[in-house]
Order: sequence, then C-alpha cells, then structure tokens
Amino acid sequence: MTHPITPVPLLDPRRQNFPLRTELTAAFHEVLDSGQFILGQAVEVFEQEIADLVGSKHAVGVTSGSDALILALMALGVGEGDEVLCPTFTFFATAGAISRVGATPVWVDSCPVCFNIDVSMAAKKMTSRTRAIIPVHLFGQTAEMDQCNAFAKEHGLFVIEDAAQSIGAKYDGKSAGSMSDFGTYSFFPSKNLGGFGDGGMIVTNDDELAEKARVLRGHGAKPKYHHLLVGGNFRLDPLQAALLSVKLAHLKSYAEGRAANAQFYIDKLSHVPGIRQADPALCCGGEVIEPISNDAEPELILPVAGPGREHVWNQFTIRARGVAKNGASTRDALLEFLRERQIGCEIYYPKTMDQQPCFADVASDPATLGNAHVLANEVLSIPIFPELSEDERSIVADAISSFVNAWHR
Ligand SMILES: *Cc1c(COP(=O)(O)O)cnc(C)c1O
Repeated sequence: MTHPITPVPLLDPRRQNFPLRTELTAAFHEVLDSGQFILGQAVEVFEQEIADLVGSKHAVGVTSGSDALILALMALGVGEGDEVLCPTFTFFATAGAISRVGATPVWVDSCPVCFNIDVSMAAKKMTSRTRAIIPVHLFGQTAEMDQCNAFAKEHGLFVIEDAAQSIGAKYDGKSAGSMSDFGTYSFFPSKNLGGFGDGGMIVTNDDELAEKARVLRGHGAKPKYHHLLVGGNFRLDPLQAALLSVKLAHLKSYAEGRAANAQFYIDKLSHVPGIRQADPALCCGGEVIEPISNDAEPELILPVAGPGREHVWNQFTIRARGVAKNGASTRDALLEFLRERQIGCEIYYPKTMDQQPCFADVASDPATLGNAHVLANEVLSIPIFPELSEDERSIVADAISSFVNAWHR
C-alpha cells in the first residue's frame, strides 16, 4: 500500500504572521522612526497590555523566558546555599535558572494526567534550605495552584510560576502566572504568543519586587551609573515589544483555534479501541503510574484539562504506553510511523532533568521520580497550532487511528 503524502508541519509561524504583515510592518516602522531602541514606550505599552491580560499589577519585559526565571529568582534573593523545588519533567530552562543563580534544584515528580508538578510529592523533599517552589504550567495548562500555594504558605516558600507555555491559561478563573510571587512568560516563536526572536516577561502584584526586578534588569542601576545591585542586561527590545503588541490582540483567537483542534482530536480518537482520554478525576492526587508489562496491549492516552483549568493547548501531548510488535516502545513506533508520513511530531521531553549529564552532581532519588521517568518514555506531541487546516488535522487523526488499528489485525 502506498500513501499519498501530504506533509503536516508540527508548527508553521508563517501562517500566523502572514495575515498580519501590514500591521507588523507598520509597528516596525513606528519603532524605526522613533529612534528609541532600548526600552521606552513600545516596551511600556506591551508591559501594560500583558499586565491587563493576566490581571497582575506589574509586568516587566525581559530578554527571554529563561532570563525571566533568573531575574525572578534574583529579585527574591534566592541563590547560593538555597534549594528550589521544581518538576524534573520540564523544559531545561526551569532547572537551569535555579542553577544559574547558584541555588540547587530539587526534583519533584509529576502528575500523569496534567503532566505538572505533583505537589503532594513535594513534602518529602523539603529541607531547612528550601526557599522556593517553581510550578511549571506545562503544555498549556496550569499546575494545581491551590495545592501549591497552600504548601508554599505552610512552609514559608516563595512561588514562581513558569508560565512560558501557558499564557492565557486559567485556574479557577485566575490567569497562569498571576497567582504567586512572580509569573514568567516566554515569547519564543513556538509559544502561544510567539515573537520574532527571543523575548519574555515577568509579572508580580508586589510593588517592591517589581521595582527590584526593574532595577536588576538594567545592571542594578538606580539612578543611571549608581549600581545598587549586581544585575544584568535583561531588557526586552522595543522592536520585539511593538511586534508582539500586534499579535497580542489575536491571542484569544489563537487559543480558540488550538482548543478546536484539541477537541477535534479528542472527538475523533477517544472512542477508537486502544485509545482513551486521561481521567481528570485522577489529576494531582498522588497517582503513581502502574507499570505496563511487555505483553500487555499497547494503549494511547489523550490529554485532558484538569478540574477547574482552562487549557490553552501549547502542545497536544499523547501518552503512548507499552511495547509495539517489533519490540520498540509504542511511543517510538508511533513517532516513526508519523515521521514516515511526514507528520510533524516531537518528544517533549525525552529526558527528565535528573537524567541530564549537567545535573549528575545534583542529589536525586530516582525511586521518587517514577512518573516523570515513565512520561519521558511515553509522551509524543502532535500538530496543534491554530492555523492547522481541517485536512491536515484529519490526516494526523487518521494516521494515529490506523497506527492503533494495526494492533488488532
Ligand atoms: C520555552 C520555555 C522556557 C524558556 O523560554 P525562552 O524564552 O526560550 O528562554 C522556560 N520554561 C519553559 C517551561 C519553556 O517551555
């Protein structure tokens, strides 16, 4: 059998940016003509727009989502000798930021339903040095923030929400990033508010922390050439800010497009024998993933929004369980199957932070990170970007159906 191949990309930012060309070009010219290339009005306007969007009092534009995390930790005075709790199943930047400020990351396991830090697993990781916790709102939905904030309050910890992948997501009606000491965002082109290079933002409701973050963003100087603190150059470019302001006006419709694609996959696939959707009732309850034996039927599990959460679907991440007929993991077999058909897909993330060579010296007890290790072997993300056409998403869903149907032949 031959397959007529229509490639489906995992992401294509051109489709999103092309319809905005006129507006983007005008915004570019406005900054060009202003001659203001460091901070200034375009950055201030964009900061206010983000603050309004997420319902935070202050927003500070920074160089990237990674630097946003570093700056938040610096503003909170977290550094040498401190420990910071974070999920081991996350993008590197979360853990990297902790290390970069001289603190030690302490790995916490994840919930297999929402993929986020399972705070019920964090208590046994506490020591007298623990200063902060960084929940990461992975793939477009928030962590269990009531549980997280209650835990932090009980133990006197700072909370920084890494909302790089979840701008606009909600938890009990509150915006991702707005529920703690600091929230951080990224405008890397693959994020839901995708920029034209690197960019990021931090938000806070605390006047003093906001001021400290602003000072640290410009080498700790206040006033100019009088350095109160050792900061860095963490400034968001006005060109980037002006272009992002144009796109921000469309963020809601982008999220709707992503949600429609997610619903399409769920409607189309969740009733196929061998595929089910994750059970939101099991979200963040300390569930431990049962091992799956080599001769068990493989299974695909589709993602779901946890209780009280509004998902913005930065990724549509499937869990592929078990072992395929040829002995490869079901996930690797599915990846290969989709790639043969030129369907974009990616493993976010193939290794947890405790498995990274650069963190080999960080103390870790793998027995307490079982879910995360299983997830790294099971996850696969498929195209979900808002401009995906109806034909394309059908091609993706049909391919996954036929991959699963082949098990039963
Ligand atoms: C993308 C991302 C970051 C880093 O953002 P950059 O802008 O690429 O530096 C941090 N944390 C998470 C979870 C991310 O996905």
